[in-house]
Amino acid sequence: MKHYPALDVQSANPDLLYPLIDDFAPTAVEERDDGLRAFFASPGARDAALAALDGRFSASAVDVADDDWARRSQQNLTPVTVGRITVCPDPRLAVPHQLSIVVVPSMGFGTGHHATTRLCLSALQEIGLSGKTVLDVGTGSGVLALAADRLGAASALGIDNDADAIQSAGENLALNPEAAHVRFALGDLSAEALPEADIVVANLTGALLVKSARRLLAAIPSGGTLVLSGLMSHERDDVRAAFPDASVAWEREEDGWIGLSVKKP
Ligand code: SAH
Repeated sequence: MKHYPALDVQSANPDLLYPLIDDFAPTAVEERDDGLRAFFASPGARDAALAALDGRFSASAVDVADDDWARRSQQNLTPVTVGRITVCPDPRLAVPHQLSIVVVPSMGFGTGHHATTRLCLSALQEIGLSGKTVLDVGTGSGVLALAADRLGAASALGIDNDADAIQSAGENLALNPEAAHVRFALGDLSAEALPEADIVVANLTGALLVKSARRLLAAIPSGGTLVLSGLMSHERDDVRAAFPDASVAWEREEDGWIGLSVKKP
């Protein structure tokens, strides 16, 4: 069975931990009663984060079994509606003729139960997607690419550097026959130039958005829009400063998370 490298960190104030852990590009962070659990792409990244926290926080390395993740995901089996879009965990719950997307809970992040996914779903509905091409960077379950298609995009491409995410995004695509212009592919934002698109949506982390600002901007034309999330309130100004020439077209906060749309001049 696959295991995911993670860190359990005890802290009465998890907000202090985010900036420290962010430097090691966690793939997911869960708040817990006594601190947080952060997942990493590799044991090396996890061990580096552990070393950085050493002496300052009580932290321990854990390898979380895949079935544990699935079990926890199953706890959130309710549909989530954001504006005109409803994300359903089960094809049988999808309402015909509504903008329902089916996303089965799995390892791929993005069931609609996290504030950052909902912020991106809201932001995408603020933009006229009709006839536009959309690139979803860090697609996870594929939820945002599927939503973009249903909202009228000419095409949507979701990329992720996690092969398991691309696998589950593909499985979700098969459950959404109405989403006829969606593709998923393995791709690493930190390693290669992005494919071009009119609109890029990136629900990542504050640190990764700052580091990748140039590459994200290079993917869109003048007048194109970047939808950014995964950043926390305290990271907002740093992320905004990484896109100095772009104008903020939309912004919202939910549960301490920020969604931000910026327009390229
Ligand atoms: N778009 C979904 C999932 C966001 S979670 C939603 O909004 O709900 C962030 C995703 O980004 C994860 O699936 C993770 O694997 C992916 N990711 C992290 N670093 C990446 C990188 N450098 N390149 C591509 N994808 C990355």
